[in-house]
Amino acid sequence: MSKLRLESKVAIITGAASGIGEATARLFVEHGAFVVVADIQDELGHQVAASIGLVKASYRHCDVRDEKQVEETVAYALEKYGTLDIMYSNAGIAGSATGILDLDLEGFDSTMAINVRGMAITIKHAARAMVARKIRGSIICTTSVAASIAGCGSSSYTASKHAILGLIRSACGELGVHGIRVNCVSPFGVATPLSCGIVNLDPSGMEDLTYAISNLKGIVLKARHIGEAALFLASDESAFISGHNLVVDGGFTVVSQNIPPL
Ligand code: NAD
Repeated sequence: MSKLRLESKVAIITGAASGIGEATARLFVEHGAFVVVADIQDELGHQVAASIGLVKASYRHCDVRDEKQVEETVAYALEKYGTLDIMYSNAGIAGSATGILDLDLEGFDSTMAINVRGMAITIKHAARAMVARKIRGSIICTTSVAASIAGCGSSSYTASKHAILGLIRSACGELGVHGIRVNCVSPFGVATPLSCGIVNLDPSGMEDLTYAISNLKGIVLKARHIGEAALFLASDESAFISGHNLVVDGGFTVVSQNIPPL
C-alpha cells in the first residue's frame, strides 16, 4: 500500500479555515490529496491554503447555508482539479446554549441551518457530482459525541448533531448503489475556537478540561486526531465501511464514571 493514503485524490473540506477542518486539510495534503479549503472566514481561509501550499490547496468562499455557493464550490473543485473524490462536510457552530425550558428558537433555527441543512446541501451536491461522473467517492460529516449522548443545556446543538446521524445513514442507504460511502466522525472536546468559546477558556485551559474529564489518560486530544479518523474514512483503507459513526472520544461515551462496581 502506498504510504500516501490519498494520493492524487481531490477533497473539499468545509469549515477548513480553522480547528478540525484546518488540521484535516493539512493531513489530507500530507497524504497526497488536493484540497479545497471551503469556509466563510476568507482571510483565514486564504492564509490556511497559502501555508499548506497553493499547488495542493486553494481557498473558496462557501457558506454552507447557501445552496448556490455549495454547488459552485463543487463545480470549482471539478474544474480546477478534474474530479471530486472526497467531501468532508465539517463546518458547524455551537449555536445558542439554551436548554429546552428556555429554548431560543432563533438560535435553534440558525444552528440547524448550518449544522444540519448545510451538511445536507453539501452531501447532496457532492453526491450529485460523484454519481454523474461514476466516482466511487467518500462523504464524511463531522458530528459530535453529542450525537450519542445528550449535552445538557444545549438542546439545539445536541439535536443538530443527532440529526447528522440520520442524514448520513439515509444517504448511505441511497448512495451505496453508486459505490459512494457516507460516514461521520464524532469528536470529543478538542481545543478550537468553537469549543473554547463554549466553555470560555483559552486553548490550554480547554485541553486541561478535556484531559480532566477524559476516560483515556496519557494523551491530549488534538484536532489532528479527528483528522486521522477522517483520513481513514476518506482512504481506501475503509473501502467497505459506510453508514458508520467513528467516535473519537477515548471511550468517553461508553463509560459512565457514576456507575459503582456492582
Ligand atoms: P472551529 O470554529 O475551529 O471551525 C469551524 C469552522 O466552520 C470555522 O472556520 C467557521 O468559519 C466555519 N463555518 C461556520 N459557519 C459556516 C458556514 N455557514 N459555512 C461555512 N463554514 C462555516 O470549530 P471546530 O471545533 O473545528 O468545529 C468543526 C466541527 O467539529 C463542527 O461541526 C463542530 O460541531 C464539530 N465538533 C467540534 C468539537 C470540539 O470540541 N471542537 C467537538 C465535537 C464536534
